[in-house]
Amino acid sequence: MPNILENLKKILPDLKENEVLALYTTFKIGGPAKYFFIAKSNDDVIKAIKTAKELGINFFILGGGSNILISDKGFNGLVIKMENQKIKINNNIIFTESGLPLQKLIRKAIENSLSGLEFCIGIPGTVGGAIAGNTGSPKEWIGQKIIKVTVLNPEEEIEEIPKSQCDFSYRYSRFKYDDKSIILSGEFQLEKASPTHIQGLVNEYLEKRKNQPIKYPSAGSIFKNPEGKKAWQLIEEAGLRGKKIGSAEVSEEHANFIINTGKAKADDIVILISYIKQQVRDKLGVQMQEEIKYIGF
Ligand SMILES: Cc1cc2nc3c(=O)[nH]c(=O)nc-3n(C[C@H](O)[C@H](O)[C@H](O)COP(=O)(O)OP(=O)(O)OC[C@H]3O[C@@H](n4cnc5c(N)ncnc54)[C@H](O)[C@@H]3O)c2cc1C
Repeated sequence: MPNILENLKKILPDLKENEVLALYTTFKIGGPAKYFFIAKSNDDVIKAIKTAKELGINFFILGGGSNILISDKGFNGLVIKMENQKIKINNNIIFTESGLPLQKLIRKAIENSLSGLEFCIGIPGTVGGAIAGNTGSPKEWIGQKIIKVTVLNPEEEIEEIPKSQCDFSYRYSRFKYDDKSIILSGEFQLEKASPTHIQGLVNEYLEKRKNQPIKYPSAGSIFKNPEGKKAWQLIEEAGLRGKKIGSAEVSEEHANFIINTGKAKADDIVILISYIKQQVRDKLGVQMQEEIKYIGF
């Protein structure tokens, strides 16, 4: 539709067409985005969303692409890649825009002797993706440190949402399945601590990550831990460690990771995930639920 493209390009001159999304996901999987725009500021984000809505185009907000599986067909609409990255520190409070890489936030906190987010060390992605998925470990998560989140709401107004209304729980927030509220920024409450104390915690958390298969592309943990159980243990008990479909493989190092050992297709991953779910249900009577989100299926 040349008209749509022309109209989009008038407002978003740097827009790209048919950009391959595998370049922007940690799985290294994903077909083309019909339209692709990198938002460098909150103004860019707002402009892109308003334009997509006015033109009736589907849009998708992409952070670091580290907790999603994008189909081989790609996304038939506008992908807005978040690179709004302002950060400000005021005493123990850090304000950051949502496109900042999570690891830059952690580094800034450490440089300023601010403690509280060390458990996020080594987790890829952006601050916005981390808030949406309430990233962390089963007991510690990023929502615990939030004061408030600023979003562009479905009425296209900027709204401040206090922590109490974000509904944070294990790997969940009100933003996780609500594609209409776009996180623009977050404010974090941290505590002053000595560099030695902070470094001690960082080392502890890095040690815990050593069982993750970081040599291969993946999307982190595929499944949430079911109540009182560990997803990786269930997958192992079902005898699925090392199970392969095409180039998709259940990691030998951490069974809740599926790794892309070559040129895995999104469909290989989907088939492997559904096989795992079926086997765990049949053999152990547990229904597993994905932590990752599917895009473009
Ligand atoms: C090697 C590896 C290790 C990992 N370890 C962990 C771990 O220890 N703990 C953990 O919790 N996760 C872990 N993950 C998963 C992942 O890194 C996190 O969930 C991360 O916070 C996702 O952020 P992202 O920016 O990549 O989100 P994306 O994958 O880009 O997006 C995820 C979802 O969030 C939405 N989203 C992104 N930005 C916004 C925004 N600004 N506003 C609204 N919605 C938004 C997207 O639309 C999408 O629905 C790991 C992943 C890998 C590859």
